[in-house]
Amino acid sequence: MFHKSNKQTIECSVDSCRFNEDACVCGLDSIQVCACWGKDSGKPEDESMCASYKRR
Ligand code: SF4
Repeated sequence: MFHKSNKQTIECSVDSCRFNEDACVCGLDSIQVCACWGKDSGKPEDESMCASYKRR
């Protein structure tokens, strides 16, 4: 699936972020993903997070 300038679509449901469009896709061309520290469960929500998030 392509979005905007033929780059990857970043699906995201974080509606509180100012870059989120229609509660389903990120409007940025790229994002920064960072490791979460302090947990080692192997679960996505414990291991990674979007560092490009900005509150609306
Ligand atoms: S910046 Fe991150 S949290 Fe915000 S819409 Fe894009 S992917 Fe989601």
